[in-house]
Amino acid sequence: MAAQLIDGRAMASGLRRELAERVRKLAAKGVKPGLGVILAGNNPASRIYVQKKEEACAEVGIQSVHHDLPATSTEKEILKLVERLNADRTVHGILLQLPLPEGVDERKVIDSIAPEKDVDGFTTGNAGRLFTGKKSVTPCTPKGILKLIDSTGVDLKGKHAVVIGRSNIVGKPVALLLLERHATVTICHSRTKDLGEATRQADVLVVAVGKAGLVDQSMVKRGAVVIDVGMNRLPDGRVVGDCNPDVREAAGWLTPVPGGVGPMTVACLMENTVEAFLLAQKALGKVAGKPAEAAERGLHGKD
Ligand code: NAP
Repeated sequence: MAAQLIDGRAMASGLRRELAERVRKLAAKGVKPGLGVILAGNNPASRIYVQKKEEACAEVGIQSVHHDLPATSTEKEILKLVERLNADRTVHGILLQLPLPEGVDERKVIDSIAPEKDVDGFTTGNAGRLFTGKKSVTPCTPKGILKLIDSTGVDLKGKHAVVIGRSNIVGKPVALLLLERHATVTICHSRTKDLGEATRQADVLVVAVGKAGLVDQSMVKRGAVVIDVGMNRLPDGRVVGDCNPDVREAAGWLTPVPGGVGPMTVACLMENTVEAFLLAQKALGKVAGKPAEAAERGLHGKD
């Protein structure tokens, strides 16, 4: 039987609606979350991603303020802007769209973002907190992936999860989150000797490589949950994932591309921004109650 498709678009839309409702209630108190968006350079894909994120902000009721910097921007100029946004009380999250112009030290700029405004969860400090199981901002794509897996009702405890890819933004953090949920985790990469042998063990398979057709049905355990993170543009303009279409014949659940992980990544960025806003309000004593349950919903780990 063909795999059931996991509708990331519908899930993301539901999450945005829920967030919009929370923001609407807060707006009645005269406060509003703000996202500072930095786009440096002319990368066309980056421009499209930023546009989608800003559209989502508008839908949720987050005030996004766009900062367009030229491709000739220096590291110093970008650092100065981050510093300004760090100090701006109307900005609760900072979205630094990558890649940055050539010659700019990305790690240095990312790490200059105030940890409480790091809504992508990319700073070394927040990555370290994730690694040590402390409460921190969950990076958006991995967070969305976990929500997509959870939507299948499959309990991760004791399951074998295989992640293909070990990048700092997808592979490694998703492996840590799966581990935190008590899955037995295998991470594969370009030097893995026999990829198929590893992937056939997977009850849950996360493919985050960027190579169309890398995984076919012969590499998938029957009934597995397969999350296809890859986004590859074909010469004819179509965008496809890393899984061959025949994976549908073997998997139990599969995320489509487009319409799977992508929309959930954007929705989770919205969620992280609202959480950052709530935590900032709480710090100012403007949100009543205990360490705002709501504020903690998007966070993982312990204090
Ligand atoms: P990345 O930094 O290029 O990492 C790719 C990973 O794939 C690396 O760890 C690499 O191994 C591994 N790899 C390459 N060839 C392989 C092979 N033949 N067999 C096994 N592993 C192989 O990419 P990324 O940033 O993680 O992104 C991965 C994909 O997800 C891309 O298509 C990207 O566009 C997409 N993506 C989508 C979203 C979304 O929201 N939908 C978000 C982020 C990324 P080595 O480490 O050994 O080089």
